[in-house]
Amino acid sequence: MSETPDSVLPPAEERKCCKCCDPRYKNRPYCVRHYRFDQMRVNSKHRGKLVPSHEWLEANVPAGMVCPCCTRQMNWLVSDSRSTTISIQHDHDGGMRLICYSCNVRHASMPEDSFYALPPGMSKCKCCGEVKAQDEFFTTAGRRCRICNRDTFRAWEAASPGRDAARKAAWRASNPEKVAEINAARRARRKLQAELS
Ligand SMILES: [Zn+2]
Ligand SMILES: [Zn+2]
Ligand SMILES: [Zn+2]
Repeated sequence: MSETPDSVLPPAEERKCCKCCDPRYKNRPYCVRHYRFDQMRVNSKHRGKLVPSHEWLEANVPAGMVCPCCTRQMNWLVSDSRSTTISIQHDHDGGMRLICYSCNVRHASMPEDSFYALPPGMSKCKCCGEVKAQDEFFTTAGRRCRICNRDTFRAWEAASPGRDAARKAAWRASNPEKVAEINAARRARRKLQAELS
């Protein structure tokens, strides 16, 4: 489908969001805020969950778009930052909340609504069960801590020695361009270090 030239589009004031006065997001009938609301409603419906009304969503956006669980600044669009995108959380007790995507994922990784009992910025490792700070995990949605991750890897390596070396060698053989890139970057880093020392 070809794009409609600007000259035949309705005047700019008619290209406002259909829910408010903000400009539309791309070719959607909504601004970024109402586009995200619409996505939440569609996703809730698809997943067989309670569908929040536009009014409920409007009334429940946290002040300053700050995630009530991790206190990070949230955003409307996944393309801006996936982990901090505002998302609808359907609690086990039937309630709904608007929290960031990574808190939503962490909530899902814990039984019932026990996520809310965690101190802010902490996660529970699904492997050893310990409650640790976020940076003890590999990703923001971290579910397995670094120590468990390392132990799992060591057990895997011990079960069949050389398997990791063989896997790495196979990767190098099939990705010569990336290997060259990595090597060039390493050489540049070493050169810089040598010049600075
Ligand atoms: Zn709007
Ligand atoms: Zn959060
Ligand atoms: Zn662990």
